[in-house]
This record gives sequence, structure tokens and C-alpha cells, in this order.
Amino acid sequence: MLPGHELEELAQDIRKNGLLFPITTFEKMILDGRNRWAACKRAHVKPAFVEFSGEDPVAFVLSNNLARRHLPAGKRAEYAVKIMAVGEVWASKGRQKINASNEAFIKEKDVARVTGVSRSTIQRAKKKLAHKQESDKNASNEQVFDSLGYPIPELALPYWYRIDEVKSILREIAKLRSIVDQLYQQKDPLYSEVDLGYVHVELGNIATTFKGAIPYAVCTLCQGEKDVEDCQLCRGRGLISQFRWEHALPPADRDKRQAQN
Ligand SMILES: [Zn+2]
Repeated sequence: MLPGHELEELAQDIRKNGLLFPITTFEKMILDGRNRWAACKRAHVKPAFVEFSGEDPVAFVLSNNLARRHLPAGKRAEYAVKIMAVGEVWASKGRQKINASNEAFIKEKDVARVTGVSRSTIQRAKKKLAHKQESDKNASNEQVFDSLGYPIPELALPYWYRIDEVKSILREIAKLRSIVDQLYQQKDPLYSEVDLGYVHVELGNIATTFKGAIPYAVCTLCQGEKDVEDCQLCRGRGLISQFRWEHALPPADRDKRQAQN
């Protein structure tokens, strides 16, 4: 962000002349114009937004951030995390599939290079941000519900918030699986002694097994409240997976929970 006096100057200019360039957004994130947004708030002028409509929001953010190399490392690290977040949204929209090299759509090392901060600084900034988001969530005192609409007890919340961690592991497995699939189709003699079909199927099984780490419902045995540590069903999470919910519960437990909702 701009230092206070420059932000004030910008605010005065916006008060006098209006906002000349709208703020660019993408999926509710400001891609470009954070200073203009802050200045509008300061000037009590309603900001104008334009949703990014180009082909590649990541490239857009990267080019806008090239001009920010003079900022302190901490600020640049924040931008780096934001770029990674935009990249992830972009990837989740299926754009990753058109990347023939089968690599992450946006690589941390490229972001590090463009923003001029080290990868470890980016990692730290990412953790800091995640931590802040979590404490914001906790502080907001809002009740969080499981996939069935049952309130999640506080003990189980930290595990609930780690869904993305598991999902990113699953994405890695999927990537590996598609590499194996390509090798299988190429019939390259190098891999003639590797049963790629088997590996492909096994990786699918591994992904299915890993999905057990995604919390789905509050544990029906300990209710995520007491004796969570010793609970044989959730094994300390206070939460169980969708598979467990659907296939490994006495039907009476399911009915009882559903009656509570
Ligand atoms: Zn339990």
C-alpha cells in the first residue's frame, strides 16, 4: 500500500476528479487497484469495479507486480501469496488441464523470481495469512457446520479447516496419475518392465484411501466433544469421512444424527 500522505493525495484527487480508472477484480479478489480502493474509502467515494475479462489473470497480476519491486520484502511476499491464490482459483477452474506439461499452472519459484522474495519468505507469508484467517474465523464466533448441517464443536474445528491440505495432496496424486497415463499411452520401451496399467489403478486406489482424510461429519461416537482422543471411530479428530458416514456406521447412529439436525 502507499504511505499515508500519498494515499491522502490520491484520495483528494479522487474526491475532486472522481475515480478515473476502475479497480480490476477477479473472483472477488482485487487484482489491481488496492491503493485506489483504499483511497476511495478514505474519500467516501463509491469505487467502480471492473471484473477481469482477459485470458490469464495470473499473467495480469504478475505484470502488475513487476512495478512493485521497490516495496519491502514483507509486502512483496503478501503479493506473492495473492498471486499464488489467483493461480489456484484459475487452476481450479480447469485451466490447469490445458497446460500440456502437466505442471502446476503457476509455480512458486516463478512467483519468487518476479516478486524478488525467496520461496521460504513466501511460505512464511502463506502460513501467516492462513493463521490470520483461521483466528479471524475463530474470533468471529460464527458457528461452523459439517456437510450435513450439524454444528462442529470447537475441538474438531482445526481438523475441519485442514480440508484444503488434503485436497492439495489429492491434486498431487491426480497429477502423478495423469503422468502415468501418458506414459502408458506412449508405449516407451524404457518403461517396458513397469506395469503402468497397474500403477495407474493403484494410484486411483491411493486417492480413494486418501479421501478418508477429508472430514465430512461430526463423529457420531464421541460427538467431537469429549474423549475425542480415545475415540475408536474418529481417532482423535472428532470428525469422520463421507465413506465412514455412509458405510461404516450402524444405521441407527445415522438416523439419530439426522433427527438432531
Ligand atoms: Zn469420535
